[in-house]
Amino acid sequence: MQSTRKPYNDRVGYFASMRSGPTSSDGRGWVVIYDAAAAGIDTDGCRYAVVCETHSTVSGVQGERLARKTMHAPASFCEACAASDGVHQTEWEG
Ligand SMILES: [Zn+2]
Repeated sequence: MQSTRKPYNDRVGYFASMRSGPTSSDGRGWVVIYDAAAAGIDTDGCRYAVVCETHSTVSGVQGERLARKTMHAPASFCEACAASDGVHQTEWEG
C-alpha cells in the first residue's frame, strides 16, 4: 500500500490532487481535481472542477490535461494563491 497521505481521495468525485505551497502539512495547501458532476460542484458545464482547498476557490475546466495543468498552477485561478505566490501564508489558523 502507498503511504502517501491524500486526505481528499475518499471524497465523492475525487479525481486527482497535489500539494501546493512549501508549508503544506496537516492537510492544508492541497489542490484537488473533482469530477464536477459527481462531486456536485457548479462549473458552468465544465467536466472537471479544480479546487484550491486552502482558499475554497474553484475553477471549472473541460479537459483532463488542462485540469492537471491548472492543478499544478493554483495561482492561475486562485487570487489568494496568486497573492501569496512564493511566500506561503499562515492565515489558515484563524
Ligand atoms: Zn488558493
